[in-house]
Amino acid sequence: MNYQKDVSNFMILGEQKIASDLNLKNEQTQLYMNLIKEEFEETAKAFDDEDLVEVADGLADMVWVIMGMCNSVGIDFDKIWEEVKSSNMSKFVDGKFIKNDAGKIMKPETYFKPNIKKALGL
Ligand SMILES: [Mg+2]
Repeated sequence: MNYQKDVSNFMILGEQKIASDLNLKNEQTQLYMNLIKEEFEETAKAFDDEDLVEVADGLADMVWVIMGMCNSVGIDFDKIWEEVKSSNMSKFVDGKFIKNDAGKIMKPETYFKPNIKKALGL
């Protein structure tokens, strides 16, 4: 499964641009930012309403428009994901971790930040 590729196929059919170079500000990136906000708000409302079906729909819609944003900006999402994954996994030391009261897994001494600039090829 490749979510970014699926959305890319949809965008090509819909005559939307798939950026070949990094390009943050264009008409299409503004559209996708608006869609991300819209889908987030729908999902948050469904969560407040305790509507599981709509939450699931909203989560998929969010991934969809986020992939659309990546395609519009020219971001290879897998590369960014791998970098963020490595960073998050560095929160575990020999299988041990620290959690705060809310259940969030905290950053130990050995944690390293994701190098997004490098992952973008900048
Ligand atoms: Mg929706």
